[in-house]
Amino acid sequence: MSTTSNRRMIIDTDTAADDSFALLVGLLHPRSTLEAITIVAGNVSFEQQIENALLTVKAAGREGEVPVHLGARVPMMRPWYESRAHGDGKGNHDFEKPTQRPSDEAAAEAIVRLVNDNPGEIDILAIGPLTNIATAVLLDRELPSKVRELWIMGGCDNSVGNVTAAAEYNFFVDPEAADIVLRAGFDVTISTWTLTLAQATWSRDQLAELAAIDNDLARYFTILDKPNIEYNESEGIMGSTHPDSVTAMMMMRPDLIESTSRKFVAVETIGQLTRGYSLFDDRPHRNEPNATVVDRIDADGFFDAWAELLRAGAR
Ligand code: CA
Repeated sequence: MSTTSNRRMIIDTDTAADDSFALLVGLLHPRSTLEAITIVAGNVSFEQQIENALLTVKAAGREGEVPVHLGARVPMMRPWYESRAHGDGKGNHDFEKPTQRPSDEAAAEAIVRLVNDNPGEIDILAIGPLTNIATAVLLDRELPSKVRELWIMGGCDNSVGNVTAAAEYNFFVDPEAADIVLRAGFDVTISTWTLTLAQATWSRDQLAELAAIDNDLARYFTILDKPNIEYNESEGIMGSTHPDSVTAMMMMRPDLIESTSRKFVAVETIGQLTRGYSLFDDRPHRNEPNATVVDRIDADGFFDAWAELLRAGAR
């Protein structure tokens, strides 16, 4: 992982709720230069995801400054699988329509172009199913050596998933894409659902603290986050979960990462009960590790960093 303080990034997202919060990190954190947002089939309908991403660019005060590219509307080999956790992904709220429209350039092509124009300089944050990233690899097999770092939110580290007991949503939805990407040779860091449940889940008291910031950005956060905590509580998770935004914040603030390990990570594509299951293997002398896995973060530090981002507000 890089320790340099600034990142030029592409965020690949199935934009709903916490994806929007990760976008806000990319759009507003002083250490981020967000080169592009790319949209992939996932959480909610594709058209809704486009609108949610554009709304978030607007909420950050950055309309017209960061292009939004449209990618895969379905996984590589399977039908689209909607998440039940997010409502419409914008808090089921009517916001004033954004004026920015999506770019004409397709997501995978934009990724290939940006990386080839800036070899070794671009980091990718992938917080949805990996369809667009896999497509970009198929367009340019040398892509992994030209991307600086790829950060993935996905999988569960020898723990239960959220779509099924075996699988986390992003890997479940497009396991073939995850398989292609994990074998491709990127410098990969993985932030898992396991880590999210343990360390990136905020209680109602914490959410009240964030709501009390009471500027436009904090209000946007509170509106979008509401369906998530209500859904989670119905599932027995007592808080709102922040898998995507914690991954984005770790990229900006590597000092929040307390421990990592090198593991061989692979995704099941065939299993009847285990579609999208992620194997995290750190047995010595077996498979060569292909990923850095985040094991522990400073959870309070993450919450404080997010509160600070909200307090600073839109640009
Ligand atoms: Ca996501």
